[in-house]
Amino acid sequence: MDIRSSFDALDKQFTAYGGLIGGGITRLLYSEEWVNAVHALKSTLEKEGFSTRFDDVGNLTGRLEGSKYPNEVIASGSHIDTVVEGGHLDGQYGILAATVAMASLKEEFGQPLRSMEVVALAEEEGSRFPYGFWGSKNFFNLADKNDVIDITDSEGVKFENAMRNAGFGFREHDNDYSDIKSWIELHIEQGKVLESEQQSIGVVNGIVGQKRYTVTLHGEANHAGTTPMGLRRDTVVAFSDIVTHLTQRAREVGDPLVLTFGSVEPVPNTVNVVPGGVTFSIDCRHINQDELNVFADEITAYVQKVADRDGLTVDIDLWMDEAPTLMEPSLVQQIEQSAQKVVGEQDYRVMSSGAGHDSQIFAKYVPTAMLFVPSINGISHNVNEETELSDLVKGIEVLKDALYNLAYKE
Ligand SMILES: [Zn+2]
Repeated sequence: MDIRSSFDALDKQFTAYGGLIGGGITRLLYSEEWVNAVHALKSTLEKEGFSTRFDDVGNLTGRLEGSKYPNEVIASGSHIDTVVEGGHLDGQYGILAATVAMASLKEEFGQPLRSMEVVALAEEEGSRFPYGFWGSKNFFNLADKNDVIDITDSEGVKFENAMRNAGFGFREHDNDYSDIKSWIELHIEQGKVLESEQQSIGVVNGIVGQKRYTVTLHGEANHAGTTPMGLRRDTVVAFSDIVTHLTQRAREVGDPLVLTFGSVEPVPNTVNVVPGGVTFSIDCRHINQDELNVFADEITAYVQKVADRDGLTVDIDLWMDEAPTLMEPSLVQQIEQSAQKVVGEQDYRVMSSGAGHDSQIFAKYVPTAMLFVPSINGISHNVNEETELSDLVKGIEVLKDALYNLAYKE
Protein backbone atom coordinates (compact mmCIF):
# COMPACT_ATOMS: atom_id res chain seq x y z
CA MET A 1 0.00 0.00 0.00
CA ASP A 2 1.11 3.54 -0.65
CA ILE A 3 1.61 5.25 2.70
CA ARG A 4 1.20 8.75 1.36
CA SER A 5 -2.13 8.23 -0.39
CA SER A 6 -3.49 5.90 2.31
CA PHE A 7 -2.77 8.38 5.07
CA ASP A 8 -4.01 11.33 3.05
CA ALA A 9 -7.32 9.60 2.29
CA LEU A 10 -7.86 8.63 5.93
CA ASP A 11 -6.92 12.11 7.11
CA LYS A 12 -9.47 13.69 4.77
CA GLN A 13 -12.13 11.21 5.86
CA PHE A 14 -11.57 11.74 9.57
CA THR A 15 -11.17 15.50 9.33
CA ALA A 16 -14.81 15.52 8.25
CA TYR A 17 -15.92 14.27 11.70
CA GLY A 18 -16.29 17.64 13.35
CA GLY A 19 -14.70 19.33 10.35
CA LEU A 20 -15.12 23.10 10.09
CA ILE A 21 -15.71 25.13 6.97
CA GLY A 22 -12.32 26.53 6.10
CA GLY A 23 -10.41 23.75 7.85
CA GLY A 24 -9.79 22.39 11.30
CA ILE A 25 -11.92 20.27 13.60
CA THR A 26 -14.04 20.68 16.70
CA ARG A 27 -14.47 17.16 18.06
CA LEU A 28 -15.19 17.21 21.75
CA LEU A 29 -15.47 14.19 24.01
CA TYR A 30 -18.77 12.27 23.62
CA SER A 31 -20.15 14.76 21.08
CA GLU A 32 -21.96 13.51 17.97
CA GLU A 33 -18.82 14.22 15.92
CA TRP A 34 -16.73 12.22 18.38
CA VAL A 35 -19.16 9.29 18.26
CA ASN A 36 -19.06 9.32 14.45
CA ALA A 37 -15.27 9.40 14.46
CA VAL A 38 -14.76 6.49 16.87
CA HIS A 39 -17.25 4.28 15.02
CA ALA A 40 -15.73 5.17 11.65
CA LEU A 41 -12.31 4.30 13.05
CA LYS A 42 -13.64 0.97 14.27
CA SER A 43 -14.88 0.18 10.73
CA THR A 44 -11.61 1.33 9.18
CA LEU A 45 -9.59 -0.89 11.50
CA GLU A 46 -11.84 -3.89 10.90
CA LYS A 47 -11.60 -3.39 7.14
CA GLU A 48 -7.81 -3.53 7.52
CA GLY A 49 -8.05 -6.81 9.41
CA PHE A 50 -7.75 -5.55 12.99
CA SER A 51 -10.00 -6.99 15.68
CA THR A 52 -11.47 -4.13 17.70
CA ARG A 53 -12.72 -3.48 21.19
CA PHE A 54 -13.96 -0.48 23.15
CA ASP A 55 -13.28 -0.22 26.85
CA ASP A 56 -16.07 1.01 29.13
CA VAL A 57 -15.36 4.72 28.62
CA GLY A 58 -14.78 4.60 24.85
CA ASN A 59 -11.06 4.07 24.34
CA LEU A 60 -10.83 2.07 21.11
CA THR A 61 -8.19 -0.58 20.44
CA GLY A 62 -7.55 -2.33 17.12
CA ARG A 63 -5.41 -5.44 17.31
CA LEU A 64 -3.36 -7.56 14.93
CA GLU A 65 -2.66 -10.80 16.74
CA GLY A 66 0.95 -11.93 17.03
CA SER A 67 1.79 -15.42 15.77
CA LYS A 68 4.51 -16.34 18.23
CA TYR A 69 4.21 -13.95 21.18
CA PRO A 70 0.57 -12.87 21.12
CA ASN A 71 0.77 -11.71 24.73
CA GLU A 72 3.50 -9.21 23.98
CA VAL A 73 1.88 -6.09 22.59
CA ILE A 74 3.51 -3.29 20.61
CA ALA A 75 1.06 -0.38 20.74
CA SER A 76 0.83 3.01 19.10
CA GLY A 77 -1.79 5.73 18.93
CA SER A 78 -2.94 9.04 20.39
CA HIS A 79 -6.12 10.92 21.33
CA ILE A 80 -9.16 11.29 19.09
CA ASP A 81 -10.61 14.45 20.66
CA THR A 82 -9.64 17.99 19.66
CA VAL A 83 -9.76 21.41 21.24
CA VAL A 84 -12.49 23.83 20.13
CA GLU A 85 -11.52 24.94 16.61
CA GLY A 86 -8.46 22.75 16.66
CA GLY A 87 -6.37 21.41 13.82
CA HIS A 88 -6.65 18.12 11.96
CA LEU A 89 -3.34 16.69 13.16
CA ASP A 90 -3.19 17.03 16.94
CA GLY A 91 -4.03 13.50 18.11
CA GLN A 92 -5.69 12.33 14.89
CA TYR A 93 -2.33 12.07 13.13
CA GLY A 94 -0.96 9.63 15.73
CA ILE A 95 -3.97 7.33 15.41
CA LEU A 96 -4.13 7.32 11.62
CA ALA A 97 -0.35 7.02 11.33
CA ALA A 98 -0.35 3.93 13.56
CA THR A 99 -3.23 2.46 11.53
CA VAL A 100 -1.44 3.01 8.22
CA ALA A 101 1.96 1.84 9.52
CA MET A 102 0.56 -1.40 10.97
CA ALA A 103 -1.71 -2.13 7.99
CA SER A 104 1.20 -1.58 5.65
CA LEU A 105 3.46 -3.90 7.69
CA LYS A 106 0.77 -6.57 7.62
CA GLU A 107 0.42 -6.25 3.87
CA GLU A 108 4.18 -6.46 3.33
CA PHE A 109 5.25 -8.97 5.94
CA GLY A 110 2.09 -10.77 7.04
CA GLN A 111 1.28 -11.60 10.62
CA PRO A 112 3.67 -10.13 13.22
CA LEU A 113 5.41 -12.25 15.86
CA ARG A 114 4.14 -9.95 18.58
CA SER A 115 0.68 -8.43 18.64
CA MET A 116 0.34 -4.87 17.38
CA GLU A 117 -2.38 -2.52 18.59
CA VAL A 118 -3.66 0.86 17.48
CA VAL A 119 -5.08 2.78 20.44
CA ALA A 120 -7.45 5.73 20.02
CA LEU A 121 -7.70 7.42 23.40
CA ALA A 122 -11.08 8.95 24.08
CA GLU A 123 -9.91 12.30 25.42
CA GLU A 124 -6.79 14.25 26.27
CA GLU A 125 -7.42 17.95 25.79
CA GLY A 126 -9.79 18.82 28.62
CA SER A 127 -11.71 20.96 26.12
CA ARG A 128 -15.33 20.06 26.72
CA PHE A 129 -15.23 19.34 30.43
CA PRO A 130 -12.76 20.65 33.00
CA TYR A 131 -10.92 17.32 33.09
CA GLY A 132 -8.04 16.23 30.85
CA PHE A 133 -6.46 12.86 30.01
CA TRP A 134 -9.77 11.06 30.55
CA GLY A 135 -8.72 8.46 27.94
CA SER A 136 -5.28 7.56 29.23
CA LYS A 137 -6.30 7.89 32.87
CA ASN A 138 -8.96 5.26 32.29
CA PHE A 139 -6.60 3.17 30.19
CA PHE A 140 -4.43 2.83 33.29
CA ASN A 141 -7.36 2.61 35.73
CA LEU A 142 -6.50 5.95 37.32
CA ALA A 143 -9.58 8.05 36.62
CA ASP A 144 -12.14 8.12 39.37
CA LYS A 145 -15.87 8.51 38.79
CA ASN A 146 -15.93 11.12 41.55
CA ASP A 147 -13.53 13.32 39.56
CA VAL A 148 -16.18 13.95 36.92
CA ILE A 149 -19.53 13.15 38.48
CA ASP A 150 -20.34 16.81 39.19
CA ILE A 151 -18.77 18.50 36.20
CA THR A 152 -20.64 19.94 33.25
CA ASP A 153 -19.69 21.38 29.87
CA SER A 154 -20.22 25.03 28.92
CA GLU A 155 -23.83 24.23 27.93
CA GLY A 156 -24.56 22.73 31.33
CA VAL A 157 -24.56 19.10 30.11
CA LYS A 158 -23.42 16.74 32.84
CA PHE A 159 -20.39 14.60 32.10
CA GLU A 160 -22.20 11.37 32.86
CA ASN A 161 -25.18 12.24 30.64
CA ALA A 162 -22.92 13.08 27.72
CA MET A 163 -21.05 9.83 28.23
CA ARG A 164 -24.19 7.68 28.44
CA ASN A 165 -25.69 9.40 25.38
CA ALA A 166 -22.55 8.49 23.47
CA GLY A 167 -23.07 4.85 24.45
CA PHE A 168 -20.41 4.56 27.15
CA GLY A 169 -20.26 4.53 30.93
CA PHE A 170 -17.90 4.63 33.87
CA ARG A 171 -15.14 2.05 34.06
CA GLU A 172 -16.54 -1.20 35.42
CA HIS A 173 -13.69 -3.47 34.38
CA ASP A 174 -10.08 -2.59 34.96
CA ASN A 175 -8.02 -2.52 31.79
CA ASP A 176 -5.17 -4.98 31.67
CA TYR A 177 -2.19 -3.16 30.20
CA SER A 178 0.45 -5.59 31.47
CA ASP A 179 0.91 -7.06 27.97
CA ILE A 180 2.10 -3.78 26.49
CA LYS A 181 5.83 -4.07 25.85
CA SER A 182 6.19 -0.79 23.96
CA TRP A 183 4.06 2.28 23.41
CA ILE A 184 4.99 4.80 20.74
CA GLU A 185 3.01 8.01 20.21
CA LEU A 186 3.58 9.90 16.98
CA HIS A 187 2.48 13.52 17.32
CA ILE A 188 2.99 16.92 15.75
CA GLU A 189 5.58 18.99 17.59
CA GLN A 190 3.28 21.99 18.22
CA GLY A 191 6.41 24.12 18.39
CA LYS A 192 9.03 25.62 16.09
CA VAL A 193 12.18 23.71 16.93
CA LEU A 194 12.11 21.16 14.09
CA GLU A 195 11.04 23.74 11.55
CA SER A 196 13.75 26.18 12.54
CA GLU A 197 16.34 23.38 12.41
CA GLN A 198 14.90 22.25 9.06
CA GLN A 199 14.49 18.71 10.32
CA SER A 200 11.64 16.27 9.75
CA ILE A 201 11.72 14.03 12.81
CA GLY A 202 12.03 14.61 16.53
CA VAL A 203 12.83 11.60 18.68
CA VAL A 204 11.46 12.61 22.05
CA ASN A 205 13.53 11.69 25.09
CA GLY A 206 11.24 13.22 27.69
CA ILE A 207 8.35 15.50 28.49
CA VAL A 208 9.23 18.58 30.50
CA GLY A 209 8.38 19.02 34.13
CA GLN A 210 6.54 22.19 34.98
CA LYS A 211 5.87 24.44 37.89
CA ARG A 212 3.09 26.99 37.83
CA TYR A 213 2.72 29.78 40.33
CA THR A 214 0.29 32.50 41.14
CA VAL A 215 2.09 35.43 42.76
CA THR A 216 0.44 38.40 44.44
CA LEU A 217 2.37 41.51 45.44
CA HIS A 218 0.74 43.82 47.96
CA GLY A 219 1.81 47.47 48.07
CA GLU A 220 -0.17 50.66 48.47
CA ALA A 221 -2.69 52.15 46.06
CA ASN A 222 -2.37 55.91 45.97
CA HIS A 223 -3.00 59.08 43.99
CA ALA A 224 -0.97 59.13 40.77
CA GLY A 225 -0.62 62.91 40.93
CA THR A 226 0.19 63.59 44.56
CA THR A 227 2.41 60.63 45.47
CA PRO A 228 6.08 61.41 44.72
CA MET A 229 8.06 58.65 43.06
CA GLY A 230 10.16 58.06 46.15
CA LEU A 231 7.13 57.48 48.38
CA ARG A 232 5.39 54.82 46.32
CA ARG A 233 4.91 51.13 46.98
CA ASP A 234 4.14 50.35 43.35
CA THR A 235 3.55 46.66 42.65
CA VAL A 236 3.62 46.93 38.84
CA VAL A 237 7.10 48.46 38.96
CA ALA A 238 8.21 45.53 41.11
CA PHE A 239 6.46 43.11 38.76
CA SER A 240 8.23 44.51 35.71
CA ASP A 241 11.59 44.21 37.48
CA ILE A 242 10.80 40.56 38.25
CA VAL A 243 9.81 39.83 34.64
CA THR A 244 12.84 41.59 33.18
CA HIS A 245 15.38 40.07 35.52
CA LEU A 246 14.06 36.49 35.52
CA THR A 247 13.53 36.48 31.75
CA GLN A 248 17.13 37.60 31.30
CA ARG A 249 18.26 34.86 33.67
CA ALA A 250 16.19 32.26 31.78
CA ARG A 251 17.89 33.34 28.55
CA GLU A 252 21.28 32.97 30.20
CA VAL A 253 20.45 29.48 31.48
CA GLY A 254 19.26 28.68 27.95
CA ASP A 255 17.32 25.86 26.29
CA PRO A 256 15.39 23.84 27.21
CA LEU A 257 14.42 26.06 30.16
CA VAL A 258 11.35 28.16 29.37
CA LEU A 259 9.74 30.81 31.55
CA THR A 260 6.45 32.59 30.91
CA PHE A 261 4.53 35.35 32.67
CA GLY A 262 1.27 34.79 30.83
CA SER A 263 -1.29 36.47 33.03
CA VAL A 264 -1.12 39.73 34.93
CA GLU A 265 -3.77 41.70 36.74
CA PRO A 266 -2.95 44.96 38.50
CA VAL A 267 -5.30 46.39 41.11
CA PRO A 268 -7.13 48.68 40.78
CA ASN A 269 -6.05 48.65 37.11
CA THR A 270 -6.82 52.24 36.34
CA VAL A 271 -4.88 55.09 34.79
CA ASN A 272 -4.55 57.51 37.70
CA VAL A 273 -3.88 55.24 40.66
CA VAL A 274 -0.52 53.80 41.73
CA PRO A 275 -1.19 50.06 41.52
CA GLY A 276 -1.35 48.80 45.07
CA GLY A 277 -1.61 45.17 44.10
CA VAL A 278 -0.74 42.88 41.25
CA THR A 279 -1.41 39.21 40.69
CA PHE A 280 0.53 37.36 38.00
CA SER A 281 1.30 33.85 36.83
CA ILE A 282 4.64 32.14 36.33
CA ASP A 283 5.02 29.01 34.21
CA CYS A 284 8.47 27.42 34.28
CA ARG A 285 9.45 24.20 32.47
CA HIS A 286 12.55 22.10 32.08
CA ILE A 287 13.30 18.50 31.17
CA ASN A 288 15.73 18.08 34.08
CA GLN A 289 14.23 18.01 37.56
CA ASP A 290 17.34 19.36 39.32
CA GLU A 291 17.73 22.25 36.94
CA LEU A 292 14.02 23.00 37.21
CA ASN A 293 14.29 23.04 41.00
CA VAL A 294 17.36 25.27 40.95
CA PHE A 295 15.65 27.81 38.72
CA ALA A 296 12.46 27.61 40.78
CA ASP A 297 14.49 28.51 43.88
CA GLU A 298 15.94 31.45 41.99
CA ILE A 299 12.43 32.59 41.05
CA THR A 300 11.12 32.62 44.60
CA ALA A 301 14.30 34.17 46.00
CA TYR A 302 14.21 37.00 43.48
CA VAL A 303 10.51 37.70 43.94
CA GLN A 304 11.08 37.89 47.70
CA LYS A 305 14.13 40.12 47.27
CA VAL A 306 12.25 42.63 45.11
CA ALA A 307 9.31 42.64 47.50
CA ASP A 308 11.61 43.34 50.47
CA ARG A 309 13.47 46.07 48.60
CA ASP A 310 10.26 47.84 47.54
CA GLY A 311 8.44 47.50 50.86
CA LEU A 312 5.87 45.05 49.53
CA THR A 313 4.47 41.84 50.91
CA VAL A 314 4.14 38.81 48.69
CA ASP A 315 2.15 35.56 48.43
CA ILE A 316 3.64 32.86 46.22
CA ASP A 317 1.36 29.93 45.47
CA LEU A 318 2.95 26.97 43.69
CA TRP A 319 -0.19 25.21 42.46
CA MET A 320 1.25 22.88 39.84
CA ASP A 321 4.44 20.92 40.32
CA GLU A 322 4.77 18.18 37.71
CA ALA A 323 7.93 16.16 37.46
CA PRO A 324 9.56 15.66 34.06
CA THR A 325 8.67 12.36 32.38
CA LEU A 326 11.51 10.45 30.84
CA MET A 327 10.89 8.19 27.88
CA GLU A 328 12.28 4.64 28.05
CA PRO A 329 15.95 5.02 27.03
CA SER A 330 16.26 1.70 25.18
CA LEU A 331 13.09 2.39 23.20
CA VAL A 332 14.28 5.92 22.41
CA GLN A 333 17.51 4.42 21.14
CA GLN A 334 15.66 1.96 18.91
CA ILE A 335 13.53 4.72 17.46
CA GLU A 336 16.60 6.82 16.90
CA GLN A 337 18.06 3.98 14.86
CA SER A 338 14.89 3.86 12.79
CA ALA A 339 15.06 7.62 12.25
CA GLN A 340 18.69 7.35 11.23
CA LYS A 341 17.86 4.62 8.76
CA VAL A 342 14.72 6.18 7.28
CA VAL A 343 15.52 9.91 7.12
CA GLY A 344 19.27 10.02 7.81
CA GLU A 345 21.50 11.62 10.43
CA GLN A 346 20.85 15.22 9.34
CA ASP A 347 17.06 15.05 9.27
CA TYR A 348 16.25 14.14 12.86
CA ARG A 349 17.12 15.29 16.33
CA VAL A 350 16.60 14.03 19.86
CA MET A 351 14.55 16.57 21.77
CA SER A 352 12.24 17.06 24.72
CA SER A 353 8.57 17.89 24.54
CA GLY A 354 7.51 21.20 26.05
CA ALA A 355 3.84 20.24 25.89
CA GLY A 356 2.00 17.57 27.83
CA HIS A 357 0.87 14.37 26.08
CA ASP A 358 -0.91 11.09 26.83
CA SER A 359 2.53 9.50 26.79
CA GLN A 360 3.38 11.12 30.12
CA ILE A 361 0.71 8.88 31.68
CA PHE A 362 1.83 5.84 29.66
CA ALA A 363 5.46 6.32 30.67
CA LYS A 364 4.63 5.61 34.30
CA TYR A 365 3.34 2.12 33.47
CA VAL A 366 4.77 0.84 30.17
CA PRO A 367 7.95 1.42 28.12
CA THR A 368 7.10 4.61 26.25
CA ALA A 369 8.54 6.76 23.49
CA MET A 370 7.33 9.57 21.26
CA LEU A 371 8.07 10.86 17.79
CA PHE A 372 7.47 14.39 16.51
CA VAL A 373 7.04 15.83 13.05
CA PRO A 374 7.34 19.61 12.47
CA SER A 375 4.47 22.05 12.80
CA ILE A 376 4.42 24.77 10.15
CA ASN A 377 5.10 28.08 11.96
CA GLY A 378 4.79 26.11 15.18
CA ILE A 379 1.01 26.59 15.07
CA SER A 380 -1.29 24.19 16.91
CA HIS A 381 -4.63 24.25 18.75
CA ASN A 382 -5.70 26.33 15.78
CA VAL A 383 -7.53 25.54 12.53
CA ASN A 384 -4.36 26.56 10.68
CA GLU A 385 -2.35 23.75 12.27
CA GLU A 386 -0.40 22.12 9.42
CA THR A 387 2.54 19.87 8.61
CA GLU A 388 3.95 19.19 5.15
CA LEU A 389 2.53 15.91 3.84
CA SER A 390 6.09 14.77 3.09
CA ASP A 391 6.97 15.19 6.79
CA LEU A 392 3.81 13.38 7.89
CA VAL A 393 4.82 10.51 5.61
CA LYS A 394 8.36 10.45 7.01
CA GLY A 395 6.92 10.21 10.51
CA ILE A 396 4.83 7.20 9.50
CA GLU A 397 7.82 5.57 7.82
CA VAL A 398 9.99 5.95 10.92
CA LEU A 399 7.15 4.59 13.05
CA LYS A 400 6.72 1.68 10.65
CA ASP A 401 10.40 0.79 10.81
CA ALA A 402 10.36 0.93 14.61
CA LEU A 403 7.21 -1.21 14.75
CA TYR A 404 8.81 -3.71 12.39
CA ASN A 405 11.84 -4.05 14.66
CA LEU A 406 9.67 -4.42 17.74
CA ALA A 407 6.92 -6.70 16.43
CA TYR A 408 8.48 -8.72 13.61
CA LYS A 409 11.94 -9.49 14.92
CA GLU A 410 12.83 -12.13 17.49
ZN1 LIG B 1 -2.30 16.12 21.25
